[in-house]
Amino acid sequence: MPAKPPPPEHTLRHPTAALESLLTEVRACRACAQHLPLGPRPVVRAGAGARILIVGQAPGTRVHETGIPWNDASGDRLRQWLGVDDTTFCDASQFAIIPMGLCYPGRGKGGDNPPRPECAPLWMDRLLAQLPSIALTLLVGQYAQRHFLGARRKPTLTETVRAWQDYAPGFIPLPHPSPRNQPWFKQHPWFEAEVLPMLRERVGRILRHGRAPAGLNRWP
Ligand code: SF4
Repeated sequence: MPAKPPPPEHTLRHPTAALESLLTEVRACRACAQHLPLGPRPVVRAGAGARILIVGQAPGTRVHETGIPWNDASGDRLRQWLGVDDTTFCDASQFAIIPMGLCYPGRGKGGDNPPRPECAPLWMDRLLAQLPSIALTLLVGQYAQRHFLGARRKPTLTETVRAWQDYAPGFIPLPHPSPRNQPWFKQHPWFEAEVLPMLRERVGRILRHGRAPAGLNRWP
């Protein structure tokens, strides 16, 4: 097999150009098109200087239709959790948004299908390599937690979320903010009482203080 050509010279000199070049490549991905009922439409947002990374599950139908990450009821709740408005949330220089599966994976009996397994191995590490300023990664749901925490996860998502201090300062594990999880929120009042204030404080501090010190994040 012939060697892959080196990246264009401009992408070596300018991190933003390198990220934009990669995002163009990502958005053209068709790697698992045969498994996607609505076809490929990778939904990802990232700016080279972003400091907070949100790793969710996969787009739902509304996000697929609009191409806007978290543009649904789950996103409304997530923004409420973070204490940020739409404008701040949509600022790619503040928030990078990369789900475990970038395209809508279709629907099964119990709701949306899991993220396509081909996706994160193809793109996650390459995208993370272009985001050197990330100080905090929010792991929304079991798929993100499995990928980033590996054996450090607790036996259940609930236990992992409750043990958030074990993953500080680089990560905060969260449940999915889907309205379908309303019973979970009711059954675990400590999440709203303890975790959300900490989450808002961390996010607010990072947004207020500009570029965070390098090396706070720990990707395995
Ligand atoms: S889900 Fe991921 S791997 Fe599959 S087509 Fe979309 S971007 Fe490519």
